Amino acid sequence: MWHDTAVAAPVTTALDGPADTDTLIIGAGYAGLSTALHLAQAGSQCMVLDAREIGFGGSGRNGGQLVPGLKKDPTELLNAYGPARGRQLIDFADATARTVYSLIDQYQLNVPHTRSGWIQPAHSKVTLELVKKRVADWQRQGAPVRPLSRSEVGDLLGTDQYHGGWFDERGGSLQPLSYVRELARAAIEEGATVHTATPVASIRKKGSGWLAVTEKGDAVHARRIVVCANAYSDGIWKNLKETVVDPNTYQVATAPLPEEIAKTILPQGQPVSDTRNLLLYFRKDHTGRFLMGGRGPFREPRGRQDWDHLQKAITLLYPQLKDIPFEYYWCGRVSVTQDYMPHLHQPEPGLILNIGCQGRGIGLQTAMGKALAAYLTSGDQASLPIPFTPVRRLPFYGLRKLYVGALIAWYRYLDSRT
Ligand SMILES: Cc1cc2nc3c(=O)[nH]c(=O)nc-3n(C[C@H](O)[C@H](O)[C@H](O)COP(=O)(O)OP(=O)(O)OC[C@H]3O[C@@H](n4cnc5c(N)ncnc54)[C@H](O)[C@@H]3O)c2cc1C
Repeated sequence: MWHDTAVAAPVTTALDGPADTDTLIIGAGYAGLSTALHLAQAGSQCMVLDAREIGFGGSGRNGGQLVPGLKKDPTELLNAYGPARGRQLIDFADATARTVYSLIDQYQLNVPHTRSGWIQPAHSKVTLELVKKRVADWQRQGAPVRPLSRSEVGDLLGTDQYHGGWFDERGGSLQPLSYVRELARAAIEEGATVHTATPVASIRKKGSGWLAVTEKGDAVHARRIVVCANAYSDGIWKNLKETVVDPNTYQVATAPLPEEIAKTILPQGQPVSDTRNLLLYFRKDHTGRFLMGGRGPFREPRGRQDWDHLQKAITLLYPQLKDIPFEYYWCGRVSVTQDYMPHLHQPEPGLILNIGCQGRGIGLQTAMGKALAAYLTSGDQASLPIPFTPVRRLPFYGLRKLYVGALIAWYRYLDSRT
């Protein structure tokens, strides 16, 4: 769907022959391209290589919900990281969506988007209590957020299935593939080089710098390398892929809605992600379609039946959609870390690995790219929102599918409680 409704990508070609660059970035998603854009802005030479195309990973597949913040709330961040680092993380989380909007404005990015806020409705009385705490927590930080009563949620969503919720003015939505393509255009205009269809097969230290070798056999020498392959990381660095669980999340979209139905659903156009552990996230897009994402099989899909549960969830929330045809079905991988936080690793000087999004990466990875560029130009680790940590393989990684299966069963039970 995003391919059918996105602006064209800037013209890029595969790398053909050996190359030298100051910073080599692997992965042309939000993280890699934001790092490149901000490096180029600072006058630093950089090259981005992507195995497939701009936005091939999560950045070209997601739900387009610009959700501010991290998975953890301010108090949790302060408790986990202490007052100084916790404060820095709260400020970082607070600014994630703003960073995206600033780039859209600064570079006049051609991205259909909204700035009308984001809503998290509570699907149960238990989670309503959590939501109340969350909104109070962010209010103490001065964030423009407010609780929503059951009837306010009903009016904003056009369904009476939720118990209440909260409204976060900082959020919004965008066409995700247009955004990543336009980030690439801006990065190239600032002087970054971007090559697509160029899988990097290996990286290793060479002299005082680094050597990357592409699958085709071309050598790229760089002073440093930043790996931004996230859930699409392969075996490029030992145990990197094994630091996350990378399940598929599934999405489905209807045909454009007739006007009389469209006005009964999300009349003010906010995107919504609910409080379920196996959350449902939904919105209308700029073409008037209704789209919903949620869990699905860990494996790659085998047929339309793998999206049936989402179609059912849609008609439970919005019975008026029962006769509207579904036009698009797709999925993509998200990277989930053990502590639900993004991770930065620097296993050796000059090599940075950026991974982890927990399904919330538009603002996060754009802001992370900006922070990475600041670190790379200044050498000051205080520019980074989180400290570097060792690359640690998840315990029982080989059993992750079983483990995730058990976790999903447990989450299903929790989500069924009212
Ligand atoms: C279905 C879905 C729905 C989502 N919904 C939302 C949402 O609504 N809101 C939100 O904020 N987040 C959402 N997310 C998460 C968000 O999309 C990701 O967090 C974000 O796109 C990650 O960006 P990234 O740049 O870190 O990585 P990616 O965009 O995944 O980019 C990684 C790139 O690395 C490349 N690569 C990998 N290995 C190599 C190699 N060896 N050589 C060269 N290139 C390589 C890949 O081709 C890929 O293009 C969703 C994700 C999915 C999959």
